[in-house]
Amino acid sequence: MIIEPKIRGFICTTAHPIGCAANVQRQIDHVVVKGAVESARKRVLVLGCSTGYGLASRIVTTFGSGADTVGVSFEKEPSESKTASAGWYNNRAFEKRAQAAGRIAVTVEGDAFSDAIKAETVAQIREHLGQVDLVVYSLASPVRTDPKTGEVYRSAIKPMHAPVKSKTLNTGTGEVSEVEIQPATAEEAEATVKVMGGEDWELWIAALAEAGVLADGFTTLNYTYLGSELTWPIYHKGTLGSAKADLDRAASAIRAQFGDASAYVVALKAVVTQASSAIPVVPLYGTMLLQVMDDMGLGEGCIEQIDRLFRVKLQAPVALDEAHRLRVDDWELSKAVQDEMTRRWPLLSTETLDNLADLEKYRAEFLRLFGFGLSGVDYGADVDPRDIG
Ligand code: NAD
Repeated sequence: MIIEPKIRGFICTTAHPIGCAANVQRQIDHVVVKGAVESARKRVLVLGCSTGYGLASRIVTTFGSGADTVGVSFEKEPSESKTASAGWYNNRAFEKRAQAAGRIAVTVEGDAFSDAIKAETVAQIREHLGQVDLVVYSLASPVRTDPKTGEVYRSAIKPMHAPVKSKTLNTGTGEVSEVEIQPATAEEAEATVKVMGGEDWELWIAALAEAGVLADGFTTLNYTYLGSELTWPIYHKGTLGSAKADLDRAASAIRAQFGDASAYVVALKAVVTQASSAIPVVPLYGTMLLQVMDDMGLGEGCIEQIDRLFRVKLQAPVALDEAHRLRVDDWELSKAVQDEMTRRWPLLSTETLDNLADLEKYRAEFLRLFGFGLSGVDYGADVDPRDIG
């Protein structure tokens, strides 16, 4: 079949196998061209390994530092008539390339929040890696079933306490409009912490420790977004921000048990991913950020951010902020970038969007997440969705 993008709201329901493989290769090339990334962490577990920051982490550790990896992600398999999730194609493309480079690359696909997938992952680590030196937690999910109670929690991305009015962007039509987002109920706020807070991270570390598969001196990373005043009302000071604050709590609990260098929350910049495109206001901020940072020569996507995290920021001595976080959002939050963002924000409207922001690049980056728009891929060719190239 000819595979084309089918966009519904903020997701694309199709993915291109050859395009996804090209997107994985593009990221591998980025790391390889820059040369080796010094690291003693050669056995790595990546939770949320198939797209976005998790995939970039798996690529940098494997192709930069020569690590063997076990990855965990949630995917949809292909059929004769339906494409797989982009992450499924990314996983296959990654495994093929990592194995060709002589690295172990094993992927467990299923619900990472469940006890069953934790047990299966432990078994895969035992069999293939023995232990792990690094655990990257990069899950982004709207829903989590508590493994102990069976209760299902859904996150709600809303402000706390009072309504928030903000500009927002319909990335499909290019229309900028004003939205008023009602505050979360106490129940919604708690559910968001249950889904995106630190509880599952701690459960993973406990399960791995109990099974004896955490190496002495291991490190675990969990990714957060702090952002600036422009997105604080909906993000940092909203339900998602409370969930992210819970990561700081969880990180301290892990450090109390395993030592000062065992757990870091890493603040990353806003990039176009499946998760970020679902957050109100963020895509408008993101389209403007793309242009402002590119104009200043500071543009970075997932692979550039994660490459800089491992190549520069995680090298000893590791510099931390006052909350013990590692900051790779330093360029986004620099005075120059934020001054320009703050100057442009009030000027944004449907009419001015083209001059002040880069919607075309945003759309291209969004489509690339699903394997569309990569150079060298023949999108007119008949492809079997089960063909992994
Ligand atoms: P993403 O949507 O690209 O990736 C999410 C990953 O989680 C995928 O591999 C997916 O398969 C996996 N996943 C989701 N539910 C799962 C489940 N139940 N079981 C197993 N795997 C599951 O997201 P992303 O934007 O790369 O986000 C990763 C982390 O980075 C999140 O913590 C996010 O808050 C953080 N972050 C993102 C941004 C951004 O702008 N995108 C900025 C800073 C921090």
